[in-house]
Amino acid sequence: MHLPDEVMTIINTLEKHGYEAYIVGGCVRDMLLGLKPKDYDICTSAYPEQVMELFPRSIPTGIKHGTVTVIINNTPFEVTTFRIESGYTDFRHPEKVIFSDSLTEDLKRRDFTINAMAYHPVKGVIDPFNGINDLRKMVIRTVGNPRERFGEDALRMLRAIRFQAAYGFSIDPDTFSAIKELSGNISAISRERILEELNKTLLSSHTEAFGSLFETGLLKFIFPVFFSEKGDFSLLKKLPEEISTRWAGFLWLAEIRDPGNIKEICSCLRMSNKLKNDILKISVTLKTGLPKNQFVMRLTLADTGCEPFARALNIMKAFGLYQTNISDAEISFERIIAEKHCLSLSELAVNGSDLIAMGVKPGKNLGVILNTLFLCVLQNPDLNRKDILIHFAGIINNKFGNRE
Ligand code: ATP
Ligand code: MG
Repeated sequence: MHLPDEVMTIINTLEKHGYEAYIVGGCVRDMLLGLKPKDYDICTSAYPEQVMELFPRSIPTGIKHGTVTVIINNTPFEVTTFRIESGYTDFRHPEKVIFSDSLTEDLKRRDFTINAMAYHPVKGVIDPFNGINDLRKMVIRTVGNPRERFGEDALRMLRAIRFQAAYGFSIDPDTFSAIKELSGNISAISRERILEELNKTLLSSHTEAFGSLFETGLLKFIFPVFFSEKGDFSLLKKLPEEISTRWAGFLWLAEIRDPGNIKEICSCLRMSNKLKNDILKISVTLKTGLPKNQFVMRLTLADTGCEPFARALNIMKAFGLYQTNISDAEISFERIIAEKHCLSLSELAVNGSDLIAMGVKPGKNLGVILNTLFLCVLQNPDLNRKDILIHFAGIINNKFGNRE
């Protein structure tokens, strides 16, 4: 297996000074699967201070956990000291981190056999827990007793499903039953970490794994809203890899369609306001259905925004919703975009100053006139011309402008 020059430099430098060094974890797994690793993590017998001494450009990013970020050719690499974790008391944080001089100990603390392999350019793959075998069998299995391992860190249960979704592997039956038994412990994990794993799962290519979230019972301890629907989550992979689209698609398939429930779920997972609003807008569009004509579509777009609407259209197409009207709606939508119809007050051919300049008094009336013009233009986009709108504004102002 070929390693990038920067990784070779780090390994060689550490070894030249008498330390052991390997690449480890996800990158080894991905290389063995013939995939390009997202990043290369390095583990070593050197202590963090020793790593920092050897590499002038290094940052103590997680020194308590033994991690130093080494920068070579402007690329960051995480170099972590071999460690043993022990004394979990709350299903989430190791009580203390103990450094070790043994690679095997370090591999033993890792979650799954497929993630517990190291690789060395000369020594080859180091695989004490038969990860290669599980890769071949396409199985996700904990290193050691699954009940103990999930008892130490409940997030691992969600990670199992995340890897199932990423690679289309199955979860070993004993590992799976342990998740079922311990699913309640997920409540101890921070919402942010849960959201991160769920997002990764949603963006994967084997989204049918989402079924495991129901089967194991994990979801009922994550979401405040009770639901038991099991939709065909494999449909999610037909959606673009965009997170608000995938969330809205998932909620639709799980038959969570009430805006109040959706809001509650988004808030309970501490989603950003932007993500929450995007999901809500898409979900409401899915529920409302397609606008009946171009005017209603422009009204909808003015309210929802074009992007969430386009995402909702993607979901409708992928899931086969509203099939009789969807191609007409798509044509209308494309036309509105191509002809740059006015969809917001700021796109109106006149603004407040134009109206004041022609004699409208500043104040509440001004807003009412602008909104009336906007409605006219939503109904007929050809009217969005300054001369026409000034003329309209004059008529409205003469009729109503002097009323208090
Ligand atoms: P990805 O390619 O999606 O980043 P990854 O396997 O690299 O997958 P990370 O979350 O980046 O996953 O973690 C890196 C490695 O650290 C894992 O491969 C695993 O060996 C170990 N690891 C991460 N989280 C845990 C955990 N909660 N418990 C035990 N080991 C873990
Ligand atoms: Mg990683």
